[in-house]
Amino acid sequence: MSRRPLIAANWKMHKVTAEAKAFVTALLPKIAEVRDRDVLVCPPFPLIASVDDARKGSKLSIGAQNMYFEEKGAFTGEVSATMLKDLHCEFVILGHSERRWVFGEGDELINKKTIAAINAGLIPILCVGEKLDEREKNMTEQVVLNQLDKNLKSVPEHAVASMIIAYEPVWAIGTGRNASTKDAKDAITLIREFIHSRFGATSAEKVRILYGGSVKPENMKQYMDQEGIDGALVGGASLDPESFAKLILY
Ligand code: PEP
Repeated sequence: MSRRPLIAANWKMHKVTAEAKAFVTALLPKIAEVRDRDVLVCPPFPLIASVDDARKGSKLSIGAQNMYFEEKGAFTGEVSATMLKDLHCEFVILGHSERRWVFGEGDELINKKTIAAINAGLIPILCVGEKLDEREKNMTEQVVLNQLDKNLKSVPEHAVASMIIAYEPVWAIGTGRNASTKDAKDAITLIREFIHSRFGATSAEKVRILYGGSVKPENMKQYMDQEGIDGALVGGASLDPESFAKLILY
């Protein structure tokens, strides 16, 4: 079966309102003819409404970069899935390595967020991947499988089929050192095999698995040519509309 490619922008903590609007205004005409793939922008929380406004009438999707698992309450500084839905978000990035390693988010928290996102009708983009020292110790498989095992605990089979998993080796994120196509493909095959064994053949066939880590217009096609790689999660190269359009049109 063929899965629709997804090209997702993670803007991290970049841009202000005018820049976000200018980005969408510049991007949309460049991708107007795109029909066979999904395009997603995940701005910082304060820019979601502006991007939503600027994208009106287009097929551009919006996602958030994080959320908390509780629906409401005394959680200063946090944002709920309901609030993201209210802003027309369809997706939410969870377990990004910067959340794990800069903000200390653990597997149990990421699991709670994943379940809360699904329950609210958001599509989680669950990020997994090993750190450099773990790769050097040949621990990639162990680390990725452990993250999947813990982060997807109690997630229903039907929800896994429609969610997104991003393989993002930590050493490749924002470093300019992208993974080889073989390493990316091997990890993505491993992830699909895990989904097959835990959630069944249909989920494994349907779940979209992206590669992320220093993807640029010059290396995008080499990943998209690999069987099983369904798209890319892109940080740095998604900030400029010219460059992001090239990634989309790979
Ligand atoms: C990311 O933030 O998920 C990412 C992959 O960043 P970059 O493309 O800059 O490596």
